[in-house]
Amino acid sequence: MTTHILKRCPSCRGDAEVIEFPVADDVLWQVNCRSCGLATELDDDRTISIQHWNRRDQEERMKSIVTILGVLLPAGMVIMLFLGIFLGGMLMGQESL
Ligand SMILES: [Zn+2]
Repeated sequence: MTTHILKRCPSCRGDAEVIEFPVADDVLWQVNCRSCGLATELDDDRTISIQHWNRRDQEERMKSIVTILGVLLPAGMVIMLFLGIFLGGMLMGQESL
């Protein structure tokens, strides 16, 4: 059995392990975090499972960026709207002077 280096858990930095799931006459693989239980989807290829896990580190980071953007964007829109009203009001005020 070839050993692949498993990256640490992207969410808790815990140790990960490869788990074997015998299904009928096939075997499915999953990489699982020993600390928080974060896991990859089941795959019939052990190497792919490990690759998924190792890629997850990046994906999780991407996801958190997307989540932050998803939160910041509507908030930013509201702020922009208020700023627009505020600046618009200021400009209007200046024009009337
Ligand atoms: Zn974990």
